[in-house]
Amino acid sequence: MIVINALVELQEQLTAAKTQGRQIVLVPTMGALHEGHLSLVEIATAQPDAFVVLSIFVNPTQFGKNEDFDKYPRTLPEDIARLEELSVTPDVIFTPQVSEVYSEGIPERLEPRAGAIGSVFEGAARPGHFDGMLHIVSWFFRTVQPAIAVFGAKDAQQLYLIRRMVHREFADSITILEGKTIREESGLAKSSRNRFLSSEGLASASRIIQILRTVEAEIGAGQTPDAALDKARMALTGLSLAKLDYLELVDKSTFKPIADTFSGEALLLVAVILDGVRLIDNITLNIQEPA
Ligand code: AMP
Repeated sequence: MIVINALVELQEQLTAAKTQGRQIVLVPTMGALHEGHLSLVEIATAQPDAFVVLSIFVNPTQFGKNEDFDKYPRTLPEDIARLEELSVTPDVIFTPQVSEVYSEGIPERLEPRAGAIGSVFEGAARPGHFDGMLHIVSWFFRTVQPAIAVFGAKDAQQLYLIRRMVHREFADSITILEGKTIREESGLAKSSRNRFLSSEGLASASRIIQILRTVEAEIGAGQTPDAALDKARMALTGLSLAKLDYLELVDKSTFKPIADTFSGEALLLVAVILDGVRLIDNITLNIQEPA
């Protein structure tokens, strides 16, 4: 495992790997690694002949003006130590500098655009976030030219937009693998931001997944999605320190809210602000046709 921050050095490594017939597998992250990220690395290293590049880059263009870009944890020595404990480590940790990624300054207009799906849910709360995210992921795709890239199901809207970008801009030339959401014992989805929660906030945060599971059970038992969602919204709003941003069921294939007559795979999406910390989570529901 080597740490590289210069682009030329990365290109040398990639060229050598390709000459040896290895397939490039990319795992993009912002660092502050936890078991969720490590599970993606395990998926990556398990691919045949994988040459795994784990990138760590806190991308300024996906943070809004009042967001936590400066406060976002940067923990490279600890990240390296955690990766070294894996039975199979990535080949390269790529940590480019902002000045090299944005060598001509930050463009006025970030491409490709996230469009309408980029301005709902997380995009409504974080204007421009998904344009910045797609811009950087497409930069990494063009720079690293992976055969495979691995992302977490936890960031469902991000994953949806990345898959769509790979189809539209990269002619489906990159296989996107999805790692399941890794959780604390309490069920709370692991996140680099959990460290900012107070113990009271943590207790409320741990209830979120139970509320999502209740919605799943109630719909499974024949309640309408609307009724189940209304109850769950009240439960989330009642959590100590919590402010509910959204709880919504969307069609997994379109990311649009579903009607009560929907059947198929849906995503139950939630965002809650706890103690000022924005937490997101989701589960997939298989909704049967109403009897
Ligand atoms: P981030 O460092 O937050 O940009 O996340 C990097 C990658 O890790 C993204 O693909 C995330 O979806 C994924 N990820 C974050 N948290 C988790 C988790 N708890 N379980 C699985 N994957 C995760």
